[in-house]
Amino acid sequence: MPLKVLILGGGNGAHVLAGIAASNPENEVRVMSLFQDEAERWSKALESSDLVIDYTDKDGKEKQFVSKPGLITNDPKVAVPGSDIIVFVVPAFAHAQYWEALKPHMEPGMVAIGMPGAAGWEFQAYNILGDKAKGITLFNFNTLPWNCRIKEYGKRVGIVGFKDNFVGAIRKGSMEPKVDPLKAIQQSLGPRPVCTAYGDLLGMTLTHTNAIIHSAIMYGRWHDWDGKPVREAPLFYQGMDQASADLLSRVSGEIVAIATAISAKNADIDLSNVKHISDIMLEFYPEDIKDKSSLLRMMQSNKAFEGLRHPVINNDGGGVSPDFTSRYIWEDVPFGLVVHRGIAEIVGVHTPNIDKLIIWGQGLMGKEFLVDGKIKGKDIGMTRAPQRYLFKSRL
Ligand code: NAD
Repeated sequence: MPLKVLILGGGNGAHVLAGIAASNPENEVRVMSLFQDEAERWSKALESSDLVIDYTDKDGKEKQFVSKPGLITNDPKVAVPGSDIIVFVVPAFAHAQYWEALKPHMEPGMVAIGMPGAAGWEFQAYNILGDKAKGITLFNFNTLPWNCRIKEYGKRVGIVGFKDNFVGAIRKGSMEPKVDPLKAIQQSLGPRPVCTAYGDLLGMTLTHTNAIIHSAIMYGRWHDWDGKPVREAPLFYQGMDQASADLLSRVSGEIVAIATAISAKNADIDLSNVKHISDIMLEFYPEDIKDKSSLLRMMQSNKAFEGLRHPVINNDGGGVSPDFTSRYIWEDVPFGLVVHRGIAEIVGVHTPNIDKLIIWGQGLMGKEFLVDGKIKGKDIGMTRAPQRYLFKSRL
C-alpha cells in the first residue's frame, strides 16, 4: 500500500515537497490549495509538463527530481479522506482555513504535520478541531527543510539549500497513528535532510526560528531607515551586521529563558529541543556553515543562505524600498514573536528584546498586539497567542 501524502498549499515549499514525494512510487501524492484559482492553474500547468525540482547535490552536480503529483485540487472531500499524513506547507496566516476545511473529513489515526507549523500551530489545531483533535497525531517542525523559490508556476522550482538535519516534535493523540510519523515524513522527503523528533511539541512553537531570525535582521537593517530608496535589495543573511546578530542572540536567550521557566514549573514537559539559535544553526547546517566562529559569521557564511535578499518593492523612480507587507513581518510577528511573548507573560519571563521587535513590527502593520506590557491589544484575534485562546494549561 502506498503512503498517502496530502500536501496543503501551493507555494514554493508545497511545490518542492510535491515534486520530491511524487518522485517515489511508494508515495501517492495529493495537493490541496484553497488559494484563489491556484489548484486549477497548477493542474493545468502539469497537463503539458512534469514538475521539475532543480537542486545541487552534495557532490556539486546539478540534478533534478522529475515527477507528476497524482491530484491537485481545492476540494477537501476529494483530498482528505484516506490520507495517512497531511502536511501544512503554507504560511501560517492561511492555516485556519485549512484546519476548517480538513475538520469534517479527518479520520482518527491521521498525522498532521507542520512544515513549518510556526508558533502556536497546535493551539490553533486544538481550538478549531475540538474533540476531533483527540484522534490526531500532531507533528511539528520549526522550519522548512529547504530554502526554495518557484521558477515557473506549477512546473519548475529551485532548491537554494537543504538543511542537513531536520528536527521536529511529535504529540500522539489518544489513537495510535496509522503510520509511523517519522518514517512517513522521511519517505516523503527522500534521504535529505535526515529527520529526527524529540522533546515536547511546545518546543517547536518556542523555536520557530524564522520568526526570530527574520525579525532581528529586518529590524537591524530597516528600523532607522530614512525612507529613501536604496540601489538594490540588500543580501539578507550575507549582509547581516553585528548589531542584528547581537539582537538575535539576545532574543534567542529570552526564548531559552521562557523554556527554562516552563520546565521549572512542569518537569514533565521535555523542552530539551529549545536551544540557543547558535546551537540550532549548527544542528541544522553542520556542513553548510563555513565559519563557525560566531553567530554573525555562521549566518553570513552559510551556503544554504547564499544569495537570499531582503523583500523589496521596486520604485518607479529607480531603486528599491523595503517591503513591509512581506511575510517576514506579517507572518513572523503574529505567528511567531507574539506567541512567544504571550507564553512568556504566562510564565513570568521578562522579554525586552522580543518586546522591542513586536512594537516595531506592529507599528509597521498598523496593528496592536502588545499594549502596556501585555498581550491584550485589539488585534490579538489575528495571532496565535495563548491569550487569544484563553489557553493556560500545561504552561
Ligand atoms: P509561499 O510564500 O510560496 O506561499 C505562498 C502560498 O501561500 C500561495 O501560493 C498560496 O498557496 C498560499 N497563500 C498565500 N496567501 C494566501 C491567502 N491569503 N490565503 C490562503 N492561502 C494563501 O510559502 P513557502 O515559501 O512555500 O513557505 C511555506 C512556509 O515555509 C512559510 O511559513 C514560510 O515562512 C516557511 N519557510 C519558507 C522558506 C522558503 O525558502 N521558501 C524557508 C523557510 C521557511
